[in-house]
Amino acid sequence: MVTINFHGVRGSHPVSDRLMVGYGGNTSCVEIVKTNKKGIKIPLIIDAGSGLIKLGYAMAEKLYAGTYSKTFTVLFTHLHPDHTEGFNFFAPNFFPFCTIYILGMETLRKSVGAILKGKMFPPTFPIEYKDLKSTRKHGVLHDGQKFYITQNGSPSNQSINPVFEIQVMQAYSPSHPQQGALYYTIRDPDDGTSIACIWDIESHIGGDVRVIKFTEGAAVMIHDTQYTSQEYASITNPVQGFGHSTYEMAIENAKRAGVHYLIPFHYNPRHNDALLDSIKEQYTGNLDPILFLMSYEGLSVTLKSGIITAIETNLLGFSK
Ligand SMILES: [Zn+2]
Ligand SMILES: [Zn+2]
Repeated sequence: MVTINFHGVRGSHPVSDRLMVGYGGNTSCVEIVKTNKKGIKIPLIIDAGSGLIKLGYAMAEKLYAGTYSKTFTVLFTHLHPDHTEGFNFFAPNFFPFCTIYILGMETLRKSVGAILKGKMFPPTFPIEYKDLKSTRKHGVLHDGQKFYITQNGSPSNQSINPVFEIQVMQAYSPSHPQQGALYYTIRDPDDGTSIACIWDIESHIGGDVRVIKFTEGAAVMIHDTQYTSQEYASITNPVQGFGHSTYEMAIENAKRAGVHYLIPFHYNPRHNDALLDSIKEQYTGNLDPILFLMSYEGLSVTLKSGIITAIETNLLGFSK
């Protein structure tokens, strides 16, 4: 059994707007959680957009209580601000008992860790990366790589009773400018549930054949849906080449890959609740056999053997 928690579902930049509170204004952060054999929850975090900040506060209590693993992994799709801006304010960075594995692609010969270090440095930030209290370990991921998350939350190349099995695909520009991005499938080896993380990608009309092959057999596809088809075709406000997909592109990939559930994600920060609700109405129940489930901040989806067993709203607050 595995749970997917959505803590930030926007692309590009955070928004704070009363017309957008339904889906939320924080940028990309997804947490996939599974309980290990000792009964401790192992979080696997994908991307550190502003949604990571409140996850960090919520994790703090659980880390102190010992119900959450003090060793865990953060995967980065790439290093644009909407995928990294929450990191500087991530509470576990400041806990000496936390070991955080930071994994992502090498960009311009720099690892993710080196890039984050550069973002946390006076005068642009008051605390230096090296002064954080946690232990942080950096790793570089490559196209085609397969690795595992162990029972204690650390990544490993060895498949010894793993909590998660992770497959990596990398695509370069023009899929996403300038250095491309990483895409992941995260599989629960205990029941075979597989979750595909496909965002910050400009798919193709008719489908992206690499993505389709990569995600075949996944139960869930979380896919970039930054644009409506009208926006994508706009001549007055051109967005082609910006590295993002339309709903139709996401649907095409999901259909051809044969996934059960399509979860749109990485929303345009200009799309308010009314627009997203109209998209939800347009597709929900109309994509048989695919189930269309709009992501929103606080959405928590639990799966067992590839089937959703619970959909809950779990809003993380800043104050008690
Ligand atoms: Zn993005
Ligand atoms: Zn990006």
